[in-house]
Formats: sequence, structure tokens, C-alpha cells
Amino acid sequence: MVIVVHGGLAEEEFLASDALLRACEVATEAMKGKEAIEGVESAVKVLEDDPRLNAGTGSFPNLLGEIEMSAGVMKDDYSCGGVAAIKNIKNPISVARAVMEQTRHILLVGEGANLFAHLLGFEPYDPRAELTIKTWKESLHKAEEEKRPIYRYYLEKAQEKLQETHWGTVGAVTKDEKGGLAAGTSTGGVKVQLPGRVGDSPIVGCGTFACPWGAVSMTGEGEEIMRWGMARRIGEWMEEVSAQEAVNRGMEIALEKKILCGVIAISKRGEIGWGANGGMLPLAYWKKGMEKPLFTLVD
Ligand code: ASP
Repeated sequence: MVIVVHGGLAEEEFLASDALLRACEVATEAMKGKEAIEGVESAVKVLEDDPRLNAGTGSFPNLLGEIEMSAGVMKDDYSCGGVAAIKNIKNPISVARAVMEQTRHILLVGEGANLFAHLLGFEPYDPRAELTIKTWKESLHKAEEEKRPIYRYYLEKAQEKLQETHWGTVGAVTKDEKGGLAAGTSTGGVKVQLPGRVGDSPIVGCGTFACPWGAVSMTGEGEEIMRWGMARRIGEWMEEVSAQEAVNRGMEIALEKKILCGVIAISKRGEIGWGANGGMLPLAYWKKGMEKPLFTLVD
């Protein structure tokens, strides 16, 4: 059994290592005698529920102040599912899994994704994190009352503050006891985001990918990760080379194309690979034989 989870590409010191370690522990328990996808879903749920991370509760609001979330999952038999621009849901990763297991489709977006979740009995939930959104709303309110243009400066500052309190997108890759692989990624998107924007996380082969040779979860500049189909390339390279070598090849492309990104990978052989270009990638991992999960910051 192998588990790797990440907390998104960070530009500063990362202070949510406890959540990543807990996600590893929860996934270990969830995967006992079960498939790799159980580990992915349970780990990502722990991270989505942590308001410090930009997924599920605590997701970044878009420019209208609304939270639109995205998540994707994939297994090594190429089954996959995702949701994009979904609102008012606690755990988008679970809805993504339901799309994979209960529909013929791969991706549901916006109102359609919400209707699907509602029909399956997912409770309506407000994913705004109290602390951060309170500051943002108060500032917005004050700036709106004040007609003098200088107040726009304070409004912008308040938004910067809001952003500073968050870290990134979350993801997990797992290998179960029978050798099955799965990947999952969940996000609130990027900081300055137009309503309706969808990034790489829920898109097969971009932010999330699994195939018979490996499982991959990415974070970083979604548009660039999508443009170059990063997760699929790294996943398929694991047929020939180790997980770390496949990640290194991906990072060479990232360097050449100037893509800010981070990646975690597990190969069919159980090797772990990770890398980051242009930031730090906080992650935690656990492998059979290790006493407890370990945290590391990759740069
Ligand atoms: N890749 C995510 C997106 O573009 C953001 C991130 O990983 O921080 O939506």
C-alpha cells in the first residue's frame, strides 16, 4: 500500500502539514482490504474539509465572491469522473467519484453538477471558511459604502489578505494492497478567477490521471498544465521509467515552457515520484513498512 497527498504549490512557508499527515493516516485505514480509490477519496475529503486549503471548505472565491469548485478522480482501468464549477457542496471529490461510478459521463459542470449531487442526496453546504470570508465580506461592504476612490485600495488589500491565508489545491495518489492505482485532485481554482473558469484539476490527463503504469495529481497554473497535458504524459512515461524519472521528464517540460506546477506520482511498481517548478510543494506520504507518514516540502 502506498499513499502520497499534496497541498498545492505554495509560495511561502506552509503551515498545514498536520492536515496532510492526517489525510495519509485516514487513507491508510480506508484502503484496508479496499480499492485505491477509497484512499484517494478519503484523503482528499480530509483536505477539502480543512479551511486552510483551497479545496472544498475554504476554496478561493471567484471575482464575484462566489465559490466554484472542481474535482476529478481516475483509476488505472481508465475509469474517471469529475465535476467543475460546482457550488454549495462539502466534498466535490465524492461527487466526482459518483460521476465516475454512476453515469456514462466523465465531467459534469455548473448547475448540472449541482443537480446531480442534489439527486444523489449530497446535502447543500456553504464552503466558505468563516475566518477568511468574514474579512473579505466586511471589507467589501465597507468599500461599497464609501464612495471615495481611495477605498478601492483598501478593498484590494483586504482581498490580498484573504488570499494570503490560503494554501493550494489538494490531491492524492494511491496504490492498494492488490496493486490497483487511483488519483484525485480537488480545488477552488486560482486566486483571480472569472466565474465559470475551469482549470486542470478535474480534466483527465491534465491535473489528474491514472493508467495501468501510474497515477498522477498536479497543482499549479491550470491553463498551462492543460495546454501541455502534463499528468497524462507523466503517467504514461511510467510504463518505461521510474515514477521519479517520469516526474523529472515532466519538470523538464515545465522548465522549458515556464509552467509553474507541482506533481505527485505513484507507479505500478509502487515507486513514488514528486517535483515542483517555481514554488514549493508540501506533501505527505506513507508506504507499507513505514512507521508513520512523513511530511516534506519539495522545491
Ligand atoms: N491547478 C489549479 C487550477 O488551475 C490551481 C492550483 O493548483 O493551485 O485551478
